[in-house]
Amino acid sequence: MFINDDTIAAISTPLGEGGIGIVRLSGINSLRIVEGIFSSPKNKTLKYLKSHRIIYGHIKNPLTGEKIDEVLVTVMRSPHSYTKENVVEINCHGGMLSLRKILELVLKQGVRLGEPGEFTRRAFLNGRIDLSQAEAVLDLIRSKTDESRRIAIEQLQGGLSEKITTLRDGLVNICVNVEARIDFPEDEIETAQKMELLEFMQDVGKELHALIKTYDEGRFFREGLLTAIIGKPNVGKSSLLNALLRRERAIVAEIPGTTRDVIEEYLNINGLPLRIMDTAGIRDVEDIAEKEGVNRSLKSIEDADLVIAVFDQSEPLNEEDFEVTKKIKHKNTIIALNKCDLRSGFDDSFFASQLTPYTSCVLKISATRGDGLDGLKEAIFNSYLKDWKEEREGVVVTNLRHKHAIEDAGAALDRAIYALRESQPVEILALELRESMERLGEIVGTVTTEDILDKIFSEFCIGK
Ligand code: GDP
Repeated sequence: MFINDDTIAAISTPLGEGGIGIVRLSGINSLRIVEGIFSSPKNKTLKYLKSHRIIYGHIKNPLTGEKIDEVLVTVMRSPHSYTKENVVEINCHGGMLSLRKILELVLKQGVRLGEPGEFTRRAFLNGRIDLSQAEAVLDLIRSKTDESRRIAIEQLQGGLSEKITTLRDGLVNICVNVEARIDFPEDEIETAQKMELLEFMQDVGKELHALIKTYDEGRFFREGLLTAIIGKPNVGKSSLLNALLRRERAIVAEIPGTTRDVIEEYLNINGLPLRIMDTAGIRDVEDIAEKEGVNRSLKSIEDADLVIAVFDQSEPLNEEDFEVTKKIKHKNTIIALNKCDLRSGFDDSFFASQLTPYTSCVLKISATRGDGLDGLKEAIFNSYLKDWKEEREGVVVTNLRHKHAIEDAGAALDRAIYALRESQPVEILALELRESMERLGEIVGTVTTEDILDKIFSEFCIGK
């Protein structure tokens, strides 16, 4: 018996023109509903169609007999489907009208329009995937580089779930053990057993901390490294951006939550998405009122994970350049000495002595000729992810919700360790262990609330 006994439908392909478009139905009545509006040339029916088979035919308005579109219908019977329910997909021509008309027709048969992410929510509620896997579906759809895709698919296949479940199961075992003692307060935990428990709990704690450490790196792969390119006018900021874009532009769809008045570009640096802020500001310095331009650039420096400060090495540094250096004092900065194809009036040590106080990373480049751009890319990648190659095999936490849950679980476990060391009552030890387990359970969804689910699935698109 599934939790949902109503049937939902939605358009699952992007809105706009395309080769094909898909209307998807999931639920107990999906076969019957499509049967009522479908006709095949040889009068075959969906009822006898085997699971995971495709049938050719037309969608027709049952009242008027009007043919709406020529389609291929796929049937995936419960429980072997995305949602574990009966799923029917109508593959029609990818024009907006066909898709809309078919959807309207389906809805008229008493089917409900699916909410954002409802198919995936059902997959979770029906136990096909856990919560962290459902979230990975969204990450996968939104991934901007091959590396972010790889991390998402690893999570979708259950890498994180398995890790969390193993750690949680370990805690469950000792918790059961400890709770069994609550009724016998006179039985103290023996020293040998206490040491064993402590060691085990400390090991789990270490693993939790290691997972938290992967978050920052994972976050950059998921969201992109927020980068500001700064420098006085004419040093070559837009030339640098264009040179990088020509080579490394990432494929990007619109990112929800970003305002369109700030133009952003994504670069793909060895799989790391680099989110360049305020490219409008870089490109049209002249167009922007001076004050607004200054405010924008200050704000972008403040928010940035990484600042690339550009200087023109064919000229001596002047006041304006030193204004720039003041702003990068406490930031993770790479200095790019641009126009290295031109003769420099100064030797290298001059620039180095003036700029190294701000960063150890000073590189010579030529934005127009392309010199030094590979080195710059490497420096960008290494600025945050020096050890990435060694660690990339393991599980990576990319989701803030997961990170918070792991932190809370780790804190509760630390309190449990303290309680055990100090020989506090076993009730306290049991309470903290349980808290730690529950926080871990939130990640995979063994413990969850409607609010958490609503928040997670509202970020999905309709039809997923
Ligand atoms: P921005 O104001 O900092 O964005 O600077 P631009 O990118 O508009 O560049 C200003 C001028 O410097 C343009 O004429 C560019 O062609 C030139 N320029 C930029 N990079 C280089 C470079 O590496 N070498 C040389 N010779 N000229 C460059």
